Amino acid sequence: MKTQVCIIGGGPSGLLLSQLLDLKGISNIVLEKHSREYVLARIRAGVLEHGFAELMREARCGERMDREGEIHHGFHIAHDGRLDRIDLHKYSGGHSVMVYGQTELTRDLYEARDRAKGQVVHDAQDVKPNDLDTDAPWVSYRKGDELLRVDCDFVIGADGYHGVSRKSIPADVLREYEKVYPFGWLGVLSRTKPVSPELIYAKHERGFALCSMRSQVLSRYYIQVPLTDAVEDWSDDLFWAELKRRLPAEVAGHLITGPSIEKSIAPLRSFVAEPMRWGRLFLAGDAAHIVPPTGARGLNTAASDIYYLYHAMVDHYLQGNSAGLDNYSAKALARVWKAQRFSWWMTTMLHTFPQNSGYDNELQQTELDYLLSSDRAKGVLAENYVGLPF
Ligand SMILES: Cc1cc2nc3c(=O)[nH]c(=O)nc-3n(C[C@H](O)[C@H](O)[C@H](O)COP(=O)(O)OP(=O)(O)OC[C@H]3O[C@@H](n4cnc5c(N)ncnc54)[C@H](O)[C@@H]3O)c2cc1C
Repeated sequence: MKTQVCIIGGGPSGLLLSQLLDLKGISNIVLEKHSREYVLARIRAGVLEHGFAELMREARCGERMDREGEIHHGFHIAHDGRLDRIDLHKYSGGHSVMVYGQTELTRDLYEARDRAKGQVVHDAQDVKPNDLDTDAPWVSYRKGDELLRVDCDFVIGADGYHGVSRKSIPADVLREYEKVYPFGWLGVLSRTKPVSPELIYAKHERGFALCSMRSQVLSRYYIQVPLTDAVEDWSDDLFWAELKRRLPAEVAGHLITGPSIEKSIAPLRSFVAEPMRWGRLFLAGDAAHIVPPTGARGLNTAASDIYYLYHAMVDHYLQGNSAGLDNYSAKALARVWKAQRFSWWMTTMLHTFPQNSGYDNELQQTELDYLLSSDRAKGVLAENYVGLPF
């Protein structure tokens, strides 16, 4: 097979790029290791920056998002038994975020690729990029017993943290930065009305908690747990009781509980791989960077990579200008590191760190007090949360 762009990974990054390129007449093939059902069963992000929502519209995939997603103009921080609201709209100069589940967004992208008769190969095994440092890269893979090959101009590594693409960059070129937090998030999805119409980030001495949602009938709640905990340690009853303890009484009193329809633990960590381009390979999304979910940057930073790559590819193919491709790594990384900083800041301010000294805890409390007392500090938070400009 021959195509212009071979995209490894059919998660949100790969599918969004595939759709955008296709709309500009740039041919591409997506190779996804798993089945569509498997990809759509993953419960992950749910808060989209306004710029990402705009990109979904540009990809002609925004119709259901605009119908079913919810615009949030603010969120709450719970602490010391009370709630403070961060007015995103006011402090960001009129922006807001869209609450729409990653699963739904991915489903919309798949359906758009189907409508356009796009090539998305599922269950592509042993995917391997080759000759990336030449002008004629190619990607081999196996489908059942058949060995296949895609010849292309460029390879996009959108295959997540565990994918093959990043590993194709020679060790003496690749630099990796990592920070592992000493806790994870236990998440529960339940078919219940959310306790609050807006998200609640809760700082509590027993550990952080988050009240989030996917819709007005589907709630997503998280509590900070030690890395040694397993999902089996947490019955639904234990989870709800612990969540209530970490919320102000007025909020806990309104919490509607129900059976979990998904329960999982995600360890928190930060990771960045540099450079994001090597030869004809371009990394995008989780293949190049991971953040703790506290600032809702993971999926959003993947989207900003796609924004840069999309425009760089369009300039290359339609204008004969390769400057965007040449600058991609530096440009994407500049925004990636800002998302890293923001995620680290939110995580550090709101979680309970077992190793913290009394001094550390006082500083942490002062950081939150300062934020809540300063319009300028709220402005910085809001600007980052709704998404820095691309
Ligand atoms: C448990 C969890 C919870 C999260 N919660 C949040 C959240 O609340 N907010 C937020 O903003 N972000 C969250 N994230 C992060 C967010 O989900 C990711 O940033 C987002 O999925 C990145 O999209 P992606 O397409 O780059 O990578 P992925 O979604 O990981 O997609 C990569 C795709 O590549 C495929 N693949 C892997 N290896 C290969 C291979 N060898 N060959 C072919 N295909 C391959 C995978 O099957 C997958 O479909 C969470 C992540 C996890 C893991």
